[in-house]
Amino acid sequence: MLLSKLFIPITKDLPAEAKIKSHQLMLRTGLIRQASAGIYSWLPLGFKVMKKIEKIVREEQNIIGAQEMLMPTVQSADIWKESGRYDDYGEEMLRISDRQKREMLYGPTNEEQITEIFRTSVKSYKLLPQILYHIQWKFRDELRPRFGVMRCREFYMKDAYSFDLSEDDAVLSYNKMFFAYLKTFERLGLKSIPMKADTGPIGGDLSHEFIILAETGESKIYTDKRIFDIPINNYKNENNSLNQMRNDFSKFYSVTDEKFDPNDFNKKVKKNDQLQTKGIEVGHIFYFGDKYSKPMNCSVDGKDGKKIFVKMGSYGIGVSRLVAAIIEAKFNNDKMKWPKAVSPFDVVIIPAINKNDNSNIEKSSKIYSLLKEKGIDVLLDDVEENISNKFKKHDLLGIPYQIVVGSKSTKDQFEFKEVGKDPQVFEINKIINILKK
Ligand code: ATP
Ligand code: MG
Repeated sequence: MLLSKLFIPITKDLPAEAKIKSHQLMLRTGLIRQASAGIYSWLPLGFKVMKKIEKIVREEQNIIGAQEMLMPTVQSADIWKESGRYDDYGEEMLRISDRQKREMLYGPTNEEQITEIFRTSVKSYKLLPQILYHIQWKFRDELRPRFGVMRCREFYMKDAYSFDLSEDDAVLSYNKMFFAYLKTFERLGLKSIPMKADTGPIGGDLSHEFIILAETGESKIYTDKRIFDIPINNYKNENNSLNQMRNDFSKFYSVTDEKFDPNDFNKKVKKNDQLQTKGIEVGHIFYFGDKYSKPMNCSVDGKDGKKIFVKMGSYGIGVSRLVAAIIEAKFNNDKMKWPKAVSPFDVVIIPAINKNDNSNIEKSSKIYSLLKEKGIDVLLDDVEENISNKFKKHDLLGIPYQIVVGSKSTKDQFEFKEVGKDPQVFEINKIINILKK
């Protein structure tokens, strides 16, 4: 892609409510555009990052055997009346009526919809366990939408639902998801901490929030630092190992403010290991047994022919929130560096442009074609402006690698820089090898 052709309409006058770095940066680099309060359009660059995040989320769901499907955004109020949540959910739910005056709503979550599908499709224990998920827009009429896509009204979420015959089996599904979440956030270049959490309007008894550390986070967290040293790559997607993983995590105190008890904290965690800080909730998992299956009469015939209400869990990841959360975690000293896995481009070529000499531009075009041939997603900064302005711009765009074609480059050697590290001069093949890794 040529930078001169890229659609990145930059919002120059930042709105007053853009208080946190990620919101400002997303507007300044043309990732999003506000449509109305708490509702955003995703412009090409932002959309590209979000799609890369979505892909990683999807791959890790598939690895644990979850099956992808797609439920609609608009739901019938009837199923919510059955579960009893139509009244409980309150004003966060956007209620609408169609031309037949039927009560509908824009889904804030999908427990009811999936339970409805399951109860009419599955009659026997033989099809259990099942984990189904979709990645779909949600609407919650938040009281105070703020911080851009971090807390907005329309947002993109992966939500999965598990169905099991017994509580013991359901805990196995829960553990799988716990594992998938740790892996997902690790691949996104984030250090996440699972924290025991309240179950809120979803209800139930077992729940963890996955939090990443960030000063601007809305969640206050209290944790034992040693939880960061748990080697998550040592666990396998296999029941004993997953049990072990949950046990190992539960040894360390780690809660958000709702569950915080200072006496407990001081008793269980040595002063040196205590960490009190703020974080961003990027995922939330729940086990809630028959909270929905019972009122909605979602049961299967067990081995002995007796009716059993299925035991359910639900598991969310804020895919759109993650775009902002990654910025909060990676933006440092006025410089952004996207994790390789989600960066809008793999590398940017930055030629020093001289009025009377086209040679840098020509060299850059050659490298550009070569990298494209090799399947590398490359941006060429062909905009006519001085090199220091270019560098400033790329500090914000945050593409993790730069090839600078200027005074330090020779016929076949170029300045290559990983953002945040010292530049080096390499032959193009070496650069390709690094980028391909
Ligand atoms: P919060 O406490 O932040 O309101 P929640 O507990 O209501 O979150 P869940 O219902 O568990 O959230 O939703 C799953 C995930 O969806 C959250 O972990 C978060 O990443 C994301 N999410 C929830 N609400 C919003 C929102 N208003 N804007 C963007 N992402 C959201
Ligand atoms: Mg909420």
